[in-house]
Amino acid sequence: GLSAAQVRSAKLEELISQDPTQFRVLTGDRPTGRLHLGHYFGTLHNRVRLQNLGVDLFVLIADYQVLTDRDIADNLAEHVEDLTLDYLAIGVDPARSTIFTHSAVPALNQLLLPFLSLVSVAELNRNPTVKDEIAHSRQAAVSGLMFTYPAHQAADILFCKANLVPVGQDQLPHLELTRTIARRFNDRYGTVFPQPDALLSNAPLLLGTDGTKMSKSRGNSIALAATADETARLLKGAKTDSERHIAYDPIARPEVASLLLLAALCQQQESGQQRTPERVAAEIGAAGAAALKKTVTESVNEYLAPIRARRAEYAKDRAQLHQILRTGNERAIDIANATLAQVRTAMKGAY
Ligand code: ATP
Ligand code: MG
Repeated sequence: GLSAAQVRSAKLEELISQDPTQFRVLTGDRPTGRLHLGHYFGTLHNRVRLQNLGVDLFVLIADYQVLTDRDIADNLAEHVEDLTLDYLAIGVDPARSTIFTHSAVPALNQLLLPFLSLVSVAELNRNPTVKDEIAHSRQAAVSGLMFTYPAHQAADILFCKANLVPVGQDQLPHLELTRTIARRFNDRYGTVFPQPDALLSNAPLLLGTDGTKMSKSRGNSIALAATADETARLLKGAKTDSERHIAYDPIARPEVASLLLLAALCQQQESGQQRTPERVAAEIGAAGAAALKKTVTESVNEYLAPIRARRAEYAKDRAQLHQILRTGNERAIDIANATLAQVRTAMKGAY
């Protein structure tokens, strides 16, 4: 069955198609590696689609958030470039949209202080996504930043008054917190912020090759920028199950279902024809897991070929990448300063 968030997303799609100019989107990624297929079908594809409908799009490279679960931000400059290249390759248009980094926008980060005062420790403690990330973290001790980053994300979204956030399923608790913070701020100090909605895609939780959430830092992902051979090798090693016959059953057979969904999404994008995972499963049937992996590999490689080619083109011009970030940062800084001034006025200069 559909979750409440999926029902809400369908309703939002209706509103977007009626008037895209009513929406401002902010969403982002941690610069901890290259973007992967989970990002693509969970959120990136929606970002570009919304941009192309005329929605104002902000894409945040969340560099401060890297420190939630590691001591130092390894290879930060390289990861920031990688993310920027991935965005450009999939079609984020810097002439229409704003790509920027956390650390370049101090006024945005200043919102964290009043926002933290609006949430309780118990609320932060209850967050299921943070709990899951702590369980997967390599660090023994949980940092204060790990504990509070969902409030930081509220600042990311609210500084530019975004009202729509295309995300994967793991972000739903964070969006709920953002709405709570916006509501409490407005109730206490007067209305400054919208209450943003999460927008889910039809692949809100793509699994990685080990059968858990595909994540940059879990070594289970297929990067958009991977070569066709790497993609084939990774998918060959993907976890499936011992049942011979391929069928689409997301509850009982999540790994196989996720691969079927991936094939269907790539084939649909490529052909423009409606493709369902059930249909892909029916076509494979008794041919089994090896045939499934072959289909997925071909579909992914075919679909990503032009994206990979565009990425390689953009990678030739580092100066252009840096210019795109500088321009994005300047725009974000202006907006953040204006919002912070409003917040100060609302709080009667108390902050
Ligand atoms: P890290 O391991 O560093 O946390 P990550 O792969 O989880 O990286 P994030 O930068 O945390 O990626 O997430 C960026 C966005 O991509 C979020 O909106 C998140 O919901 C979405 N996303 C990440 N992984 C998936 C996935 N497997 N399926 C669907 N959406 C995903
Ligand atoms: Mg993550």
